[in-house]
Amino acid sequence: MFSHKQLIRLSGKKLILPFYHIVSNNNPTHIANLYPHKSISSFRKDLDYLLKHFEPISLKELIEIKKNNLPLQKNCFHLTFDDGLSEFYHIVAPILVEKKIPATVFLNSNFIDNKALFFRYKASILADELTADNVLDFSYHQENELDELAKIFDIRWEDYLTAHQPYLTSVQIQELINQGFTFGAHSKNHPLYSELTLEEQLEQTLSSIELITSQFKLDYNVFSFPFTDDKVKKSFFDAIANKIDLTFGSAGLKEDSVKTNLQRIPMETKFDAEVHIKIQYVAYLIKRVIGKWIIKRK
Ligand SMILES: [Zn+2]
Repeated sequence: MFSHKQLIRLSGKKLILPFYHIVSNNNPTHIANLYPHKSISSFRKDLDYLLKHFEPISLKELIEIKKNNLPLQKNCFHLTFDDGLSEFYHIVAPILVEKKIPATVFLNSNFIDNKALFFRYKASILADELTADNVLDFSYHQENELDELAKIFDIRWEDYLTAHQPYLTSVQIQELINQGFTFGAHSKNHPLYSELTLEEQLEQTLSSIELITSQFKLDYNVFSFPFTDDKVKKSFFDAIANKIDLTFGSAGLKEDSVKTNLQRIPMETKFDAEVHIKIQYVAYLIKRVIGKWIIKRK
């Protein structure tokens, strides 16, 4: 097996961008039927591994590096968290402060302050209530059907939001900004971009960024794609080129033909960071050989 040093040297990939949604020892109903997540102890273990092999950098450093095409002096990482969940405030942020690791959180502008619920969370809650997995197949355009089902079974989303407070509030976000954490947009209500028209993609992106940067007075603007940036075309990136500093996908260790669209490594797997990151590097090296290491946008 190769060492981390060898893998980094062979691949030339000195920067990695790991991403998570939540870290918790609980299994909240709105997420339980969707994807696994790390416990606090496995998250701490991931961080210890990352700190051993890579240096944490801030979002502003990352923007500088990418915008000016600066060479990396050291192996580094920037941590990101999608969906703006309240566990970031209660669990993750205190650990990151303790370990002096900067991070960026991507928010869905419609969900801040627990004003509404992501359709996938509705599906997860319904799957639990109805003990029926087929509700998990409902798409973004079938959200009304999820709402109808909830009515039939007397489930009120407002009650769930009030009782569980899954999302960060504006007050918590401001406090996190004061602590040095950075924020970006993750669309208004988390659609799958490949199912939207170009106009809808731009509206979801630009209005969520506008809302978040103006509400929190941010002097940078970043965006992470809800679900995936798969099949998002060059015309979209051309249209936002002068309006956004960086965008983020989640295709793993990969290049993108759009230089300002950075691919991140999803970390919520059954593997520890040490094994998972090594697998990502080996896969990257194989993709280079077979010519699939770069996402080409048309
Ligand atoms: Zn998301």
